[in-house]
Amino acid sequence: MLRTGISRTLRPVSRISACTYSAAAIPAPNTQPDIHYNKLFINNEWHDAVNKKTFPTINPATGEVICQVAEGDKADVDKAVKAAKGAFRLGSPWRRMDASDRGMLLHRLADCIERDAAYLAVSGSWIRSMSYYAGWADKWEGKTIPIDGDYFCYTRHEPIGVCGQIIPWNFPLLMQAWKLGPALATGNTVVMKVAEQTPLTALYVASLIKEVGFPPGVVNIVPGMGPSAGAAIASHMDVDKVAFTGSTEVGQLIQQTSGASNLKKVTLELGGKSPNIILSDANMDEAVDQANMAIFFNQGQCCCAGSRTYVQESIYNEFVERSVERAKKRVVGDPFNLKTEHGPQVDDEQYQKILSYINSGKHEGAKLLCGGSAAADRGYFIQPTIFGDVQDNMKIAREEIFGPVMQILKFKSVEEVIERANDTKYGLAAAVFTTDINKAQYISNSLRAGTVWINCYNVFGVQAPFGGYKASGTGRELGEYGLENYTEVKTVTIKIPQKNS
Ligand code: NAD
Ligand code: MN
Repeated sequence: MLRTGISRTLRPVSRISACTYSAAAIPAPNTQPDIHYNKLFINNEWHDAVNKKTFPTINPATGEVICQVAEGDKADVDKAVKAAKGAFRLGSPWRRMDASDRGMLLHRLADCIERDAAYLAVSGSWIRSMSYYAGWADKWEGKTIPIDGDYFCYTRHEPIGVCGQIIPWNFPLLMQAWKLGPALATGNTVVMKVAEQTPLTALYVASLIKEVGFPPGVVNIVPGMGPSAGAAIASHMDVDKVAFTGSTEVGQLIQQTSGASNLKKVTLELGGKSPNIILSDANMDEAVDQANMAIFFNQGQCCCAGSRTYVQESIYNEFVERSVERAKKRVVGDPFNLKTEHGPQVDDEQYQKILSYINSGKHEGAKLLCGGSAAADRGYFIQPTIFGDVQDNMKIAREEIFGPVMQILKFKSVEEVIERANDTKYGLAAAVFTTDINKAQYISNSLRAGTVWINCYNVFGVQAPFGGYKASGTGRELGEYGLENYTEVKTVTIKIPQKNS
């Protein structure tokens, strides 16, 4: 019940572990959050950017400026890394804090996000990874190992240190929660660079981090541009690990930069061109519906989007016809309207890029079945678009479009579709729709992808790992596996005296 008295100045948080966690004790709303959207969050304080620069953040539904945001640069990253390093020094409140207290702080943070979910326009379930990892804080155990000889050998799971986290714009709050949860549960400190398109919710969460009582410097949030602030994190000699989600192109840069600087640990969650395979025996209603959601969810701005829909010959015509019908029914409009299924793309750059992919599809001879152009005269709306008769070598079948563009491809046999599905540099996700369990298992085992869905799509559990094979990334996020990315394993060996002398 101690949770009701959450104080913003509570620090260091010690000896709170005796209290019992109770979900009923969610704190009352903070009506005066300490937040400055035009500043950077370093050491639990709000700072102007060193160079005083700001950049506009744009409402994608209208193209209008919402507000100005501080533009962090190398000098600001240096400040933030210094703060994170300070918070990680031996004997600091954070290093001395009991693991269960770290978990408690994360629970409080999850509660505060849930408290303010309406304001953040997010469903509570989207940030469940915070409370999931809060629970892990005091359960991430090492081993005792029976090595040869008269020794007692055990492992400790220790935090890596200062973690740089670079996140994208497609699910700003979710990506922030996926990154902060495991990093903080395991006792690291963080410098996070949020995407330039979507800095606001992350700054709001920064105010909550201070409110619930994380010690200063544990989490630092620096909005800014990739090639300046992002690159400064990747090349920083005092950053011990970098976790990145975004394009494969930038992921490659980050891995190179790590290698050229201090070999900081790197985890990458990159793009995909995920195959969604519909066999002739699939439940047609479900397959049509799920394939629609697989590609159009979040306007196609999903790393795991089912962007290559392979349909077996005998059901191809019916599937195409019904998919077009379903796509035309999608309600396009104002993202703040509850009836809306389909909002704008994130910015003009993505909007132009997607339209150019649609043009390339037309030029390469794919059959445009619906959509294909802008869906409104302002903002970055694109119609749900479907191409049929797509061939494997077309650009729209090979490259990540990251937009509401469905590619339908025809196949004959299971062996053929496995080979074609795997013929990509990516390996993030895949799906199979069939009522034959043998085929389902044979195909899913044959696909080189980090996640395979059978008769469903886009199903995530914070308990289950997610990540890519091949150029889709390195490491896994979520679940117990996600903890490994934020842990150094230390082996300790003690000589056991053999005689009581
Ligand atoms: P991006 O990879 O450039 O941006 C992702 C993050 O990386 C942002 O925070 C950005 O500022 C940062 N960044 C950019 N350049 C950097 C650099 N040199 N060093 C360090 N950090 C850097 O992605 P984008 O330009 O926003 O989108 C381009 C394409 O990337 C999209 O069309 C899509 O295909 C893909 N993408 C994938 C995901 C995903 O979830 N895997 C998310 C966003 C974009
Ligand atoms: Mn980019």
